[in-house]
Amino acid sequence: MTSADLGDPCTSTMQMCKPQKTHKMAPVSRCSGKSFRLNQEQRPLKIVRASYQYLYDNANAEYLDCVNSVSHVGHCHPVVVKAASATMECNITTQGWDIDYGDIRYPVKLRQTLPDYLDTFLFCNSGSEAVDLSLQLCQLYTRGTDVVVIDNAFHGSIDSVHHLSPKVFKANNISKADWVHIVAMPDLYRGQDPGAVDKYISDAREVVQNIRHTGKKIACFIAEPMLTVPGIIIPPSTWVQEIYKMVHEAGGLCIADEVQAGLGRIGSHFWSFQALDVNPDILIIGKTIGNGYPMASVVTSREIAAVLGDRIKEYKCSPLMDAVGCAVLEVLEKEHLMAAAASVGSFLQDQLKTLQHQHEYIGDVRGKGLMVALEIVWSKESKKPAQEVAEQIVHRMKDEYVILANEGCNRNILMLMPPMCFTKDNAISLVQRLEKVLSELPKHRHSQDDTAHLSPMPQASQSTVCEGRLGIIQPQEEEDDDGEDDSSSSNKDTMDLEYTQHSYQDLD
Ligand code: PMP
Repeated sequence: MTSADLGDPCTSTMQMCKPQKTHKMAPVSRCSGKSFRLNQEQRPLKIVRASYQYLYDNANAEYLDCVNSVSHVGHCHPVVVKAASATMECNITTQGWDIDYGDIRYPVKLRQTLPDYLDTFLFCNSGSEAVDLSLQLCQLYTRGTDVVVIDNAFHGSIDSVHHLSPKVFKANNISKADWVHIVAMPDLYRGQDPGAVDKYISDAREVVQNIRHTGKKIACFIAEPMLTVPGIIIPPSTWVQEIYKMVHEAGGLCIADEVQAGLGRIGSHFWSFQALDVNPDILIIGKTIGNGYPMASVVTSREIAAVLGDRIKEYKCSPLMDAVGCAVLEVLEKEHLMAAAASVGSFLQDQLKTLQHQHEYIGDVRGKGLMVALEIVWSKESKKPAQEVAEQIVHRMKDEYVILANEGCNRNILMLMPPMCFTKDNAISLVQRLEKVLSELPKHRHSQDDTAHLSPMPQASQSTVCEGRLGIIQPQEEEDDDGEDDSSSSNKDTMDLEYTQHSYQDLD
């Protein structure tokens, strides 16, 4: 007797789904993000399962995952999986009438981590949807239209949100919307002089004042309080505080996008805005709160949420979100993962800084808790981004069973944002293997002209044409599906943007 005879649900569903006719189907195109391309070309990785901070391929080889921050408490964490499947087994969905699902506990639990005034939770399925909803809230509440964003930011992958993401519109040759205004990101690695912070603040002030002078009204400022997407940039708190002040004075609201940096990852605080001592009017959380299950939330005050009127009921917490969200918080607490992020993260940074002294290519090691960046440069003196070297490292580390990704607008930043169960032993093993790979590279390379010493990198097999509502023409390379890092330096020369890109040097 087979399992199908016994009514095994998996097998019988698979049989029902089998195509009846055997006509030849076109192959499904494989889309992998740029950051992961290096793991897919030359000996492509076929990951078939995952557990905590480890990924396993089809030959059962184990890889240390240093990049999947979405699986916040660990891939397939049994507590989360159990909570989700138990709820799915008994939960029903209906159209048209209310079911008594019992008490929803998640917003109450989440509220314990937040300041009192953030007392209203609107739930949706993705970070992008949450950003779009926040934008609506701000525009309705302030009656303003214009938005201030940070250069190279990414806030999601739907139409309205692309406009708020310089990383996306710059990489895709799309003109900046005239209601969007960009302030320079405070890159204190390159802008190290004592007056740098003041210059960044006055740049932001100029942007805000210009909006006011043209008679437009600011709806909001949206930013990751700690900028993960452009390469883990921890801004000076005075810079963030000053921008919040300017925007509030201009009648706008401030949105903190904590999709990546929230939920204890920085180690010292549960939310990164708390470490910078600012009070956002709206907080956006997503992905990590569901350990990968698609859920997100816009957290704000009752007063701001009221502008939605009756629509507010569309953003309820479902029983499944409730179960998953509570399970993630429970694991975080029981396994002391925030404290672990602080100690493992600082241990990792110390180890990497030791490595930095020995290797010319490591220009900077920075971060907080379990979000750490290594900036790869041609030489410490020039600080020139070395994308080719970063790619070589990612590629070689895969052979050493460690998964890394090169990110940032010059794709030269190795970002370490592993699941929060990453241990000190994992940090040691990562650093040892990194040391081995770095020691294979030729020493003291001062120029990007001589790349012959680097093994040739595999080329993308084909580029994908993407057409979206924004009229994306034809990216040179595939889109990141999660948008972690889309900015393409190769497109820079051909870009025809309406705005001037700021660099630290431009800010005088
Ligand atoms: N904000 C940030 C900072 C992100 O990194 C992302 C995507 N990773 C989003 C928003 C969008 O979230 P989602 O992919 O769930 O739409």
